[in-house]
Amino acid sequence: MTTEPINTPPGTPPKPAAPVPLPQINPTTQAPRPQPPQQKAPPLPGVKHVIAVGAGKGGVGKSTIAVNLAVGLAQRGHAVGLLDGDIYGPSLPTMLGLDALAANLLGNMLQPFYVHGIKAMTIGKLVDPEKPLIWRGPMAHGAFKQLVEQTQWGQLDYLIIDLPPGTGDVALTMAQLLKLTGAVVVCTPQRVAQDDALRALRMFQQLNIDILGVVENMSCFIADDGKEYDIFGKGGAQLMAQRTGVPFLGAVPITMALRQNSDLGNPSANFQGQTPLANALDTLCTNLQGQVALSDFKAPQRTPTLTIN
Ligand code: ADP
Repeated sequence: MTTEPINTPPGTPPKPAAPVPLPQINPTTQAPRPQPPQQKAPPLPGVKHVIAVGAGKGGVGKSTIAVNLAVGLAQRGHAVGLLDGDIYGPSLPTMLGLDALAANLLGNMLQPFYVHGIKAMTIGKLVDPEKPLIWRGPMAHGAFKQLVEQTQWGQLDYLIIDLPPGTGDVALTMAQLLKLTGAVVVCTPQRVAQDDALRALRMFQQLNIDILGVVENMSCFIADDGKEYDIFGKGGAQLMAQRTGVPFLGAVPITMALRQNSDLGNPSANFQGQTPLANALDTLCTNLQGQVALSDFKAPQRTPTLTIN
């Protein structure tokens, strides 16, 4: 568990960003030792499936995939929530176009933003966006816990959690707090990216979290004329999934539209038409749902018992 300040710009004295409407975070809260999540009573009884999206390092498109899985599942008629667990560098305010919206408290419960057919919550709307988010380990634990427990998620088929990159405090807190259906690991095709992704994969397994699958992002570049260029290579993440015996959910190409729609906060546009991007995202959602169904099937069934008095 790190106790050092994170994201401190060089030469700047560490100054924690003040949480705005979140109840005070108790900096003395100690993150408890890891325990199997099965032993916990679920803190989100209305949520059927909690799915974490992680990556070995930043910049591989983890948040992009988390957002588009959430929106894609919602477009299939499911009730979906998306939690920005990337408390050090929240991307959801931009990617979901939340800039003009204000966070809302009802009693002491945060009301999620309802955009693009999903319910979303992000610490990016609760703190000053200009200030660096400096959380010591226990504070990161407290902030994540509050976002999970004090958001009015209601009934959800899926809660997608966009984790910070790497293998840190938040993933540990999440595993202690929630019973997950599983995790999705996002990876780009290069060899070095696979090594990082493998570490994330092993972290989930160590935390007793099933791997629902690996996604290869930035798999190739499709130019306007339809020609494909394998800028970062292709198929590396699939190979890594095969080698480690985990499912491969699909590949998403580098596309201008995906980057633009993310910057504009309009992920719904990614699903319009029969484009290679829309088809790739559709395949991801189908395969993820397949893995979730498999996981439900494998989950221990409650056996009926007969009591004779
Ligand atoms: P991470 O969460 O891993 O740090 P992001 O999801 O924030 O990465 O993505 C980093 C940048 O790359 C963003 O600007 C995003 O729009 C862009 N991006 C991600 N995936 C793709 C893709 N397949 N095609 C084009 N741009 C992408």
